[in-house]
Amino acid sequence: MSYNVNEKGYYGKFGGAFIPEMLYPNVEELRQNYLKVMAEPEFQKEFNQLLKDYVGRPSPLYFTKRLSEKYNTKIYLKREDLNHTGAHKINNTIGQILMAKRLGKNRIIAETGAGQHGVATATVCALMGLECIVYMGEIDIARQAPNVARMKMLGATVVPATSGSKTLKDATNEAIRDWINNPIDTHYIIGSVVGPHPYPDMVARFQAIISEEIKWQLQEHEGTTKPDYVVACVGGGSNAAGAYYHFLDDEDVQLIAVEAAGLGVDSGESAATSVLGREGIIHGSKTLLMQTNDGQITEPYSISAGLDYPGVGPMHAHLYKSGRAEFISITDDDAMTAGLELCKLEGIIPAIESSHALAIFEKKQFQPNDIVVVSLSGRGDKDLETYIKHFKL
Ligand SMILES: *Cc1c(COP(=O)(O)O)cnc(C)c1O
Repeated sequence: MSYNVNEKGYYGKFGGAFIPEMLYPNVEELRQNYLKVMAEPEFQKEFNQLLKDYVGRPSPLYFTKRLSEKYNTKIYLKREDLNHTGAHKINNTIGQILMAKRLGKNRIIAETGAGQHGVATATVCALMGLECIVYMGEIDIARQAPNVARMKMLGATVVPATSGSKTLKDATNEAIRDWINNPIDTHYIIGSVVGPHPYPDMVARFQAIISEEIKWQLQEHEGTTKPDYVVACVGGGSNAAGAYYHFLDDEDVQLIAVEAAGLGVDSGESAATSVLGREGIIHGSKTLLMQTNDGQITEPYSISAGLDYPGVGPMHAHLYKSGRAEFISITDDDAMTAGLELCKLEGIIPAIESSHALAIFEKKQFQPNDIVVVSLSGRGDKDLETYIKHFKL
C-alpha cells in the first residue's frame, strides 16, 4: 500500500479537489505547475537559502537526557520551535511565497484561526514586498489580539469574517470567495496539509524538510537514519506530515499522531477528528471531519488554538483508516501537565500544541532502546496567558 499521494491527488480514498467551478482555473493553474516549479534548481536554491539564513535551519535534533531518563527510553526533540516566528509554519509559507512569485502573483491571501499561520504569511509577504490580506473570524480576532497586532506590524490587512460561527471555517470561506473574485493576480496560501489537491501534497513537500533533516541528524547521533517512532501533534496535520514524510513507506518506523481530546473525546468539547469524524468534504477535500447527522460541520474545541480544526488532512485520514499511524488523543489537562514537565526537566517551554505530543509518554510504554523522535512544533511564548491561567502562576 502507498501512503503518499497518487497522480489524481488521492491518499487511498481521501483527498481530491471538490471545488466550485469558479475556483477551478486557479487550482488547476497551481496543479499544473507546482511540481515543475519545485523541481527547478533555481527554486530549490532560493528555498534552501531562505530556510538556512532566514528561518535558521537546520533545526536541532536534541537528545533529552532528563526526559529520557524519566520515561526510560530515548527521546529526541525536533526543534521546530527554534525557527523564525516560533513554529514549523514558516517552512510552508516560505515555499508558497516563492511559488506565488514564480506564478506571477503579487497579491497574497490567507485564512487564519489562532493567527499563527496569518503571522507566518504576513512575515513572508513583508520579506518579499507583496500585498497580504488575512481573513480571520471576528471571534478569533477578539481572542488572539497579540497575533492580530503582529500581522498589522508586518504590514498585513486583517479582514474579519462575520458570518457563521465567526471562526476559522468562516475565515476559510471568505478567503475562497476572495480567490474566486481575484483569479489572475492572487495566490491563496493555505496553512496546513488541507484543502483541494494539490495543496496537501505541496504543503507536505515543503514541510518534508523536517524528516529530511531528522534522517541525517539521527545518523550523527545514533548511527542510523531510522527512528523507531515519530510522534507529532495533528491539527490539520502539516508538522506531522513533514516529520513522517521520508518514513511513510518505511514500515519499520512507527508513526504516532496525537490529536486534541479537549475536555475528553466523549465530552462534546473536543477536536479528536479521526476518532469522532466521519467521511465528508471540507474545504475542497474528501476527508474525515466532525459533523452533525445532517452533515453540518461541528465546532471543535481544544485548549490549544492550533489543534482546533474540525477536519484533518487527507494524508492523515488515510494513515488512520489504513492503520499505518497510531492515533492517540490527549486531553487539555494532560497536555498542560506534559508541557510544564518539559519546562522543568529540559528548560524548554513548548507550544501547547506540541505539549499534546509530549503527553503520550504517560499513556504509552516504550522500550529502553527505542528511539522516539517528537516533533516540537512550536514554542510556548504565545501560550503564556493560557499556562498562567491553568497553573495559577
Ligand atoms: C498550527 C500549529 C500546529 C497545528 O498545525 P498542523 O498543520 O497540524 O501542524 C501545531 N503546532 C503549532 C506550534 C502550530 O502553530
